Amino acid sequence: MEEKRAKRRIVLVPVPAQGHVTPIMQLGKALHSKGFSITVVLTQYNRVSSSKDFSEFHFITIPGSLTESDLKNLGPLQFMTKLNQICEASFKHCLGQILQEQGNQDDIACVVYDEYMYFSKTAAKEFQLPSVVFSTTNATAFVCRSVLAKVNEERFLIDMKDPEMRDKVFPELHPLRYKDLPTSAFGPIEGMLKIYSESVNIGTASAVIINSASCLESSSLARLHEDLKVPVYPIGPLHIAASAPSSLLEEDRSCIEWLDKQKPSSVIYISLGSLALMETKDVLEMAWGLSNSNQPFLWVIRPGSIPASEWTESLPEEFSNLVSERGYIVKWSPQMEVLRHPAVGGFWSHCGWNSTLESVGEGVPMICRPFTGDQKVNARYIESVWRVGVQLEGELEKGTVERAVKRLIVDEEGEEMRKRAIGLKEKLEASVRGGGSSFTSLDDFVNSLKTKDSM
Ligand code: UDP
Repeated sequence: MEEKRAKRRIVLVPVPAQGHVTPIMQLGKALHSKGFSITVVLTQYNRVSSSKDFSEFHFITIPGSLTESDLKNLGPLQFMTKLNQICEASFKHCLGQILQEQGNQDDIACVVYDEYMYFSKTAAKEFQLPSVVFSTTNATAFVCRSVLAKVNEERFLIDMKDPEMRDKVFPELHPLRYKDLPTSAFGPIEGMLKIYSESVNIGTASAVIINSASCLESSSLARLHEDLKVPVYPIGPLHIAASAPSSLLEEDRSCIEWLDKQKPSSVIYISLGSLALMETKDVLEMAWGLSNSNQPFLWVIRPGSIPASEWTESLPEEFSNLVSERGYIVKWSPQMEVLRHPAVGGFWSHCGWNSTLESVGEGVPMICRPFTGDQKVNARYIESVWRVGVQLEGELEKGTVERAVKRLIVDEEGEEMRKRAIGLKEKLEASVRGGGSSFTSLDDFVNSLKTKDSM
């Protein structure tokens, strides 16, 4: 194949949310280390940290995009739909500006956009720039979204309301049941299906990059490649391949000192990521169950995640009493450091994909309590495919919470899960090392940018 002069700039278009920003900025770091210049396109509602770690990146803001109050008023689902409508024209303007500054169209290697920023594909096509989709979830969740984008909406709505049906395995997606499918807690199924069909329609994109590894989901990756008919590059876990701090909230490091005082593998770490919300009654059942389990726990309660409460002040005194005995609460933790700490024996998680990769990447077994979307897919895989965790289904109840904690931290069963998690950790580390599958995949992607015929 004919080699042409290497294009040196990559334009990244992240979704303004912690779970999306973190991996795309890590991808930026990985590509920067391969010699590319990076331009990050921000929306007015900006969730990209301006940390010194990214001082070599160039940032540009799409004018007139939505703000934080739009997110509050519309909710995440409608916000994303509207953001895509609004940004299509203004992103063209932005890209035109980058090209003008650049002086030479050939200097842009490609536009890498988060799959939910699908407005990007029109502008890239108009300027005849190669575009690449970046998925911050795993390949299995992508496959699910492709399947859901094609379902009969009416039938699906009926099935999802039928309790018997919800427990059945979805025909094309074994071992996922109807209730494990990535439906959203943030709005009606109809709106969600619309977003899915837009996002899985990759248009003229020449490749898909996934923050996953073939040791985790080789058959979903193969299926995706077959369905999309473009190369699919699993290059993760990016937090191991190209760690780049991008926390948007201030990390409370006092919890590390607290962990230092705990026994090895004794602590259950609880965090529900950056978006999940909790019901007051669930918080109390959790506190009771954790307290009754007799295990120490470190709990991240994000301000605003409990209704009618800035933080925990609306919770009854009973809550503080339960926690004060053996718990420690912070508003936001240095999660990677926490998971790496020898005192941590288990992770109660909402199973966001970053948290899942971070936990498995440290060999920490999980208690899964998914909240929305792909978290349900991840939870099912954690419990029944990788077998490194237990899922809490149905109403939260202190007895089941206590039991789950003991299964994970105290019982033989938890020890087996930990061994399997450590096995996966080793495989994941090997995949991003020289010669590993994700390492090679990233190289293949970079080489494809240099080859005229492959874009
Ligand atoms: N996180 C963190 N400190 C916390 C809680 C979460 O740094 O106290 C980070 C976590 O390490 C992960 C991200 O926030 O990288 C959450 O992403 P994930 O995909 O798990 O969930 P989301 O926030 O998108 O629901």
